[in-house]
Order: sequence, then structure tokens, then C-alpha cells
Amino acid sequence: MTSLPLVPPEALSVRTHCPYCAYQCGMLIGDGTADAPGTVQGDPHFPVNNGELCIKGWTSTTLLRHPDRLTSPLVRVRGELRPATWDAALDATAEAIRATKERYGPDAVGVFGSGALTNEKAYLLGKFARVAVGTANIDYNGRYCMSSAAAAGNRAFGIDRGLPFPVSDIEKAEVVLLVGSNAADTLPPIMQWFDRQRRAGGRLAVIDPRKTATARAADLFLPVTPGSDLALANGLLYLAVEENLIARKFIESRTTGFDAVRRAVLTYHPAHVERLTGVAEATMRKLVRWLGSARSAMILSGRGPEQQSKGVDTANAFINLALALGLPGKPASGWGTLTGQGNGQGGREHGQKADQLPGYRLIEVDPHREAVAKVWGVDPASLPRKGKSAFELLDALGPEGGIRSLLVMGSNVAVASPDLTRIGCRLAALDHLTVCDAFLNETAAHAHVILPAYQWAEEEGTMTNLEGRVIHRRRVARPPTGVRGDIDILRELADRLGSGDKFAFHSARDVFEELRRATAGGTADYSGITYERIDREDGVCWPCPSEDHPGTPRLFADRFAHPDGKARFFAVEHRPAGDEPDAHYPFYFTTGRYREHYNSGAQTRLVGALTKARPHPLLQIHPAAATRHRVGGGSVVTLESRRGRAEFRAEVTPAIRPDTLFAPFHWGGSEAANQLINPALDPTSLMPEFKLAAVRIVAVGTPVETP
Ligand code: SF4
Repeated sequence: MTSLPLVPPEALSVRTHCPYCAYQCGMLIGDGTADAPGTVQGDPHFPVNNGELCIKGWTSTTLLRHPDRLTSPLVRVRGELRPATWDAALDATAEAIRATKERYGPDAVGVFGSGALTNEKAYLLGKFARVAVGTANIDYNGRYCMSSAAAAGNRAFGIDRGLPFPVSDIEKAEVVLLVGSNAADTLPPIMQWFDRQRRAGGRLAVIDPRKTATARAADLFLPVTPGSDLALANGLLYLAVEENLIARKFIESRTTGFDAVRRAVLTYHPAHVERLTGVAEATMRKLVRWLGSARSAMILSGRGPEQQSKGVDTANAFINLALALGLPGKPASGWGTLTGQGNGQGGREHGQKADQLPGYRLIEVDPHREAVAKVWGVDPASLPRKGKSAFELLDALGPEGGIRSLLVMGSNVAVASPDLTRIGCRLAALDHLTVCDAFLNETAAHAHVILPAYQWAEEEGTMTNLEGRVIHRRRVARPPTGVRGDIDILRELADRLGSGDKFAFHSARDVFEELRRATAGGTADYSGITYERIDREDGVCWPCPSEDHPGTPRLFADRFAHPDGKARFFAVEHRPAGDEPDAHYPFYFTTGRYREHYNSGAQTRLVGALTKARPHPLLQIHPAAATRHRVGGGSVVTLESRRGRAEFRAEVTPAIRPDTLFAPFHWGGSEAANQLINPALDPTSLMPEFKLAAVRIVAVGTPVETP
């Protein structure tokens, strides 16, 4: 945990939340002026982080008065981006959308949103795409983050909420298994709950191809071969059956489908699984005994098992294990996923995803369409059907794919997507690209129009954290002259497109009132949540169907969300990744995050303290592989996959498997890890395979100094 000097609490005033990850730490901001808030302190009274922040949170206000901040719209004229008036920039965007619709039809306009948007903005962007533009093609970068866990949760439990219990339950679990999550780096304040759990005598096990900071804190570490997590989960279930650890009464009374799963895992004999996964049988057996004999146990998933071309099946394999052991619904027990982006959860609940409408309704289900159309005052038949998923949408940009005009709100797709060379070509092939953002980034570099938007602290709104807790992000700073909020931008664009009456919102609270009505009766029902309740109760967990409903911090105690109240087992089989190592590309390559940077780095690469601590991505390579390829610490190593090249300085470390290389994905250009990544999509979630590509070392340069 980073400990920067705290300012005296009496100097602080406004309670709000961090702009970055899904942990949404509470923070107190003040000690400056409304124009330039300076100091940050963790909010000791917010029950999720209890006053702790990571270095990203501590430094988050740096961006509010950053010299690179965009303060005027930009319009491309003869190849150059030049300052323009708001009217000129909005007119240019609206005209491009109108002309594209007229020439090619509404689906030729794409809309790309973000897991960083508040619930209100996510809701409004989904409505804008369907009502003002009429396009089916809207998706968001949360597809790259949570979609496999979401699909698996829906299949098994009938509902998708990151954690079905508060994070504070972690401390009460006797055993916690973390699968492919480096929580100590990605959301450091969560480690307080693991520390308490272990101080109380609990055990922590970690599955990961790398011995991460989280794995080093564990009592048991399973260094799995990349892409074999599903086989490992099935192998663990095989052992649970063999050791008679399964919860028969629970399986009979609260689930369906176990027999098919039991039959499917019969072929996952420990010796076979050991060969597939690299995890010793004795280690697997120890873990299963811990999980199966504990009074309370949790299996928590991260992006490792999920960002694979079999991510949904892998998540279901671990859910099968949790169900077989009778964990979901039991106190301080169950399966959950540690969500990544700030509002990855709320972002998909309110209609930014190609297949979803507000309230977690489905766009292909007629009663769902009718319920939302009624609130929006439109004919249900006028709503588009399901559109393309995030990567499919980006891959369809340009004349060949048919999406000719794109609006991007708060997402740096030119760094965050797989197969970046291809995505760069697609962006360049657009007739028109409008980007709404606070800073220029790699995506905005392709834009024809850039609309400078408010940042997180300059407007209020609600976010939904990894527990399904709806929280209030307050306004703590005045935006600089010349920028506008996304709600205003969407209203102005809708007005120019002839739908102004459906977008007459002037504040986040106005939008939230409609969002409440639009979600009423849906799976993610927010109708009982108000700003006042959120403030009074430190957040309210959905579903919350009325103002006198207490909210739902814990799910599944009595029933699951399928109509019959039962959870579903899903028989799933291990299969190879989209891109397995071979004689030409002999290494597994996997990606992840640094604690100093967030996602594509569009914000954190602008923060001096963060870039000083982590100026470059480092390539982790095992000493044995390093010796073979004459790689020393700091050597500049060029990697190549079947899609492209990237260049990293080397960090030689035994903390990674000898057959695996790792680099973080926060950088663009020649240091972009996602250049190497295979866009093989999971067939259900359409998640690209970020966690696994086959690569080779093609050049090793002279060592340079590494931080
Ligand atoms: Fe908390 Fe996440 Fe912000 Fe770090 S980045 S302070 S863990 S919300």
C-alpha cells in the first residue's frame, strides 16, 4: 500500500469516489479551491476501502488542471485538427451521422462507450444510439473486461453481478481461492480483507501463471499453464467427487444439471490434468480438501480465466466447482468475479452493450423491448435489434465492414483492443470519427472531430461498484472554460438529429429519474434507489425495486435468479486456445496491469508520479529462457506474434513460468502489448483472447537502464 502524507481531515470536505477501477474507493477531496482541488484522502467511513487508496487514487486530481487538457473542440481541416466553436463541432458530427444514415442506413453509424461512464451517461448513450441514431451497433469497452464472467453468471445463476456479497465478507471466509486475479496490484485496498481473513486463521490460494504480488501473499500457489484453467477446474471437481467432498443435499435441492457435469469431469484424471496444467496432483488435492472441508469458502475470478476464447466455459467450470461444494448462497461463501473498470458493472446494466437494454433487459426479448420503449415514448418496433460486439464493431469500420461513421465516448480503443495494427487500419478507413474525451489519445489521433468533455470530478453521477453497490460520485471541481459534459453533448447532438424532445436532460439527476423508471421490473432494478438514499446509506445494492426496499447486498441465500429458483451446472470441456505455441512461436504471451497504471493508460500516462514510477512496460522473462536467448535485465526485446510486433525492456525474473512471457498493456505505439494479441472471440461472450497469444523473440538489443 502506498503511503503518501495525509492532510488533516478538517481541511477536507467533499466525499466522492476514485475515477479509476471498480473498487470505487471512497475519497475525501478538498483543501484547494473549487477550481483546483488539491488534496486527496481515503474516506475512512466508506465501508469498502476504509480509508485506503492506491497510488492511482492518491494522484487522481493531478489530471484536473493538467496542461494537456483539451479546452476547445477540434475539427480536422485539410488533414489537421484545428480549434473550432462548439456549434461547428457538434454540427459536423450531427451532419456526418445524418449523411451516413441517409447513404448507408442507420447501422452504418457505430457508437462505442466505456466502463468509465457513469450510470446516467451509459444509459443515455444507449438511448442515443437506439433512439436518436437508430443503430444496432453500439457496444463498449466493458466487453473486453467482464463479458465472460457476466455470461457465465447469467447461465449458472440467472443474474450477473460481480460479487453476490459485500467485499467485507472476504474476511469471514475460511478459504479463498483467487483465480487469475492479481488483486494486490490491480485493486490494492481489497487486500485489507484478505489480510484480516488470514490473520483470523483463513487460507488463501492463488492460481496464476505468474508469481504475482498476490500469489506471494498466498498459502498455496498453483502456477498454471496459460489457457488451461478450465482443465484445472474440471480436475479439481474430479477430485472433489473422488474425495466425497460434494454437497449432495445442496445439489439436489438447489441446482440442476449435476449428473452431466459429473460425467464430463470423469475424464479429467489428476495425472492428465497435471500434464495439461503443470499443477502437481498433490497441490490440487490439497486445494480441494481445503475448499471442501471449510465451513465457508469463496472462489473469486479475475481476468485470467475470463479473457480467453473459452472464457465463459472456464468461468462456468469454476462455478461448477463452487456449486458442487455447495458454496453459493452460504454465508461468506460462493463464486464471484472482481470487476475491473470503474463502472464496468453499471455500464452493462443500462444499455451500452449491443444485446442489452436498461435494467439488464435483453434487446431481443419482446416484453423487454416493450417495457423500455414505453418509458422512452417510442414504438417498440422502432428499436434496433442486437448489434455487433466491441471487436466485431471495430473490425467492421470502413467501406468493407460497412460502419462508416463512429462516435467514441471515453474509450481509447486504439490501445485497448486486440490486433492493434488491424484496428488502426479500420479507424483510418472511417468516413468520420468523433471522439469525446478530456485528452488527446491514440484513438483521438484518428478523429475528424474531438469534443472536450468534463472529467470525473467536474460533474456528479452514480457508479455501480464490484459489489453491485450504487454510489454517488460528487462534483468537487469547476470544469475549465470551454469543455462540456457528455449529457449536454448528447442532448445537443440529439437535438440536431431531430430527437431533442427525448433527450431534454440538463443534469445527471434528471437522467437518473428516467433510468429508475426504465429499470423498474428488470433484473438490475434501480427503481427504489435515489441520490438521497445513496448518500444516507453509503450506497444501495441492486436489485432495489422500491424506496422502502433495503437493497440486496447478498444474493442467493434462498433462491437463484432462474425462474425455478435453481442454479444450473454446465458441462464444459477443455479445448486449445485460438493461438497455441508451436515451433515457430514457442512462447505463451500473457498481459496484465501495473498498480501505477489504468487500462490503456490514457489518463495515468499523463500523471507525473505514475510515469516516474513506471515509465515503460517491462517484459517478464524467466532466467532459463533469458539465458537461452541471451537476454539480460534491461535488454530491449522485440516480440512477434502472427499479428504484429512489440518491443519491451526485459525484466529477468523467476516469478514467471519458463514457457511464458508477460507484459502490461497500458502503452501504445511500439510498446503496445495488444499488437500481439489474437482477436479470437469467445463464442458466447465475444470476449477477445487477451490473456494468451503465441509469440517468438525476434531481436534482442543492448540493455538500457530500467526503473
Ligand atoms: Fe481504489 Fe481502484 Fe482507485 Fe486504486 S484505482 S484508489 S483501488 S478505486
